[in-house]
Amino acid sequence: MAKRREIEQILRKTAIEYGYMEIATPIFEHVELFTLKSGSEIVDQMYIFKDKSDRELALRPELTASTMRMFLAEMERAPQPVKVSYFGNAFRYERPQKGRFREFWQFGAELIGANSPEAEAECVAVAVMALINAGLKNFKLRLGHLGILKGIFKETVMSESSQVNIMRLFDKGIKEELAFELDSLDELSAEQRELLKSIITTEVSTVNLESFEPQFMQYESSASAWRNLAEVAKLLKLFGVPVEKMEIDLTIARGLDYYTGLVFEIDVPELGAEKQVCGGGAYTLLELFGGKSAHTIGFAIGFDRLMLALEEQNRPFDLPKPVAYIIPVGREALTKAVEIATELRKNGIPSELELKGRGPSKCLKYAANLGANLAIILGSDELAEKKVTVKDLKTGQQTKIEMDNLLAEIRKSMD
Ligand code: ATP
Ligand code: MG
Repeated sequence: MAKRREIEQILRKTAIEYGYMEIATPIFEHVELFTLKSGSEIVDQMYIFKDKSDRELALRPELTASTMRMFLAEMERAPQPVKVSYFGNAFRYERPQKGRFREFWQFGAELIGANSPEAEAECVAVAVMALINAGLKNFKLRLGHLGILKGIFKETVMSESSQVNIMRLFDKGIKEELAFELDSLDELSAEQRELLKSIITTEVSTVNLESFEPQFMQYESSASAWRNLAEVAKLLKLFGVPVEKMEIDLTIARGLDYYTGLVFEIDVPELGAEKQVCGGGAYTLLELFGGKSAHTIGFAIGFDRLMLALEEQNRPFDLPKPVAYIIPVGREALTKAVEIATELRKNGIPSELELKGRGPSKCLKYAANLGANLAIILGSDELAEKKVTVKDLKTGQQTKIEMDNLLAEIRKSMD
């Protein structure tokens, strides 16, 4: 748990550095909150139950919908943009496996009420910087824009269901199946068919984005989506996202969720099948919940997967250890020993007191095991002299010092 807490704190601190205020929302909500907007996959995975008044409730499968509800209830009149972050558990009825649990934790952020490439880039940067700050070394940010595919669809006579099906195949990323499906769709001209196929094979370098001329530029809304995407990618470099970690991936469809424009995913190759540690994008949901529509961009990092990834990449952790282990030798030394422990703790020095009344040699072994730096030994001699014996557990060096100097000596040893 100490490792999780350390990373949790880093994620929270990153959000604060970017001005995202932390919020907390309830663990269960009315089921409609989620069925109104979440992707069908998530709705199928929900834990639903009835309360004593026969209301249908759901354990939250994610925190975005709750954030929108809270925004409308409490923050709608606040000056925009409103920037919030959360760290909470979510529940999905899925087949548990490595990196996929029925209860898992998400750290996320939402930027509500700003429609600009810089707002989008900032939110993506928060996700990436949170991961970098947490110590994640190897990962890939993939950026895409749903407007590109949708812009092409708009120029065709494709039915809604064909569009959804093709988006699903893009999301799954199975080239052969997609090509087969496109070939058998008579709602497409030969040219449109080839254009859609080209999306899956196009490799875009993030280094010279400006000079890249995608084939779909003839379609006005695809072209404007592309320009938006290119601008965000350009800004991301300025926001400090390393260019070699970035990739343009025009096939991202985000599991047919509620996203409308920019979309992004972050993968960690070491995680294998469940390699996605973060997903996000731009959307407008407020109008669905009875509010005024506002451009929103958000993301959620899968905290449990991030922890697995950090373990895989051997991130070193400094686990909390006591600085001082205080050993009273004999009952008469106990009062003073407790006083010393209390005094050290008051001064912010993590300290432990021998609680089993063991003899010094056993205590020293135990203290070394805990990783304590110093043992403070208090016997009858020391009591009489108003001194303590301080043993450095790393070097084995032992000195007797005035009790009154103990705090200063410990502080010196910590520098
Ligand atoms: P996946 O495709 O892996 O099922 P998702 O698209 O359903 O992910 P999102 O709804 O975007 O995931 O949630 C954001 C992040 O939460 C994911 O990138 C992932 O890291 C994490 N996550 C999602 N479901 C689980 C789960 N069951 N257990 C652990 N982490 C999860
Ligand atoms: Mg899923």
